[in-house]
Amino acid sequence: MPRVYLHLTFQPDNFVQTSMKAAATAEAARIWSDYGVAIESDAQPAFCDAGTERLLIVLGGVSDVGKGQDSLGAIHFAPDGTSDSIVILDYRAVSRLAMSVPVVGAPSSQWTDRVRDQAIGRALGRALAHEIGHFLLRWPHHSASGLMRAQHKASWLIGADRRPFQLTATERARLEVTTASGRPLDAAGACGALAAARAQP
Ligand SMILES: [Zn+2]
Repeated sequence: MPRVYLHLTFQPDNFVQTSMKAAATAEAARIWSDYGVAIESDAQPAFCDAGTERLLIVLGGVSDVGKGQDSLGAIHFAPDGTSDSIVILDYRAVSRLAMSVPVVGAPSSQWTDRVRDQAIGRALGRALAHEIGHFLLRWPHHSASGLMRAQHKASWLIGADRRPFQLTATERARLEVTTASGRPLDAAGACGALAAARAQP
C-alpha cells in the first residue's frame, strides 16, 4: 500500500498534449512507486477517495520564477525550510535536452513522432520526479548520485534504464521520516472537488 498519495495538476492545462502529461506523470509514478508514493494527475485520477497531497505543476520557464540549482525545474523553499506546493517545469529546456542525444544512433531530426514523444515524456517525467523529491523529502539540496543529483545526463533522461533515478539509502530514510510526520492532508482538495463533480448529475 502506498503511504503517500500525490495528486498533480498541470498548468496551463493546454500547454502540452494530454498524452504528454500522462506520459510524464506515469514516468514519475513508476520512479516513486518503489518508495510507497502513488502519483496521479487530473487527466487520470486514480485514487480520489484517498487522503492526498497536492502539487501544482507549472509548465514554463524556470528563469521566469527565480532560479534554484536545477536547470529543468524548480521548487521554492522558504527560509524556514518549508516548500511551496508548486513545481515549475521548463518544458522547452527538457525537450531540447531530450532531443540533443541520438536514439539507437539516430539524431532527433530522424525520429518518428512516437520516438520523440517517448523521449520527451520520459525526460519530463524524470525531471518532474526530481522536483517531487525536493517536495516529499522537504529538502532543497542535492545528492552525489541517483534521482536527487543536481544534473542528469540527457542520455539517462531518455534511456530505458531507470536505475540512475533511484533514491539513496539516506534519502529513503529521510522519506520515512517526512512521510511519517505528515503534512496536513487536504482531503477536500482537488480529489474532493473531482469526486463532487462526478457526483453531479
Ligand atoms: Zn534539484
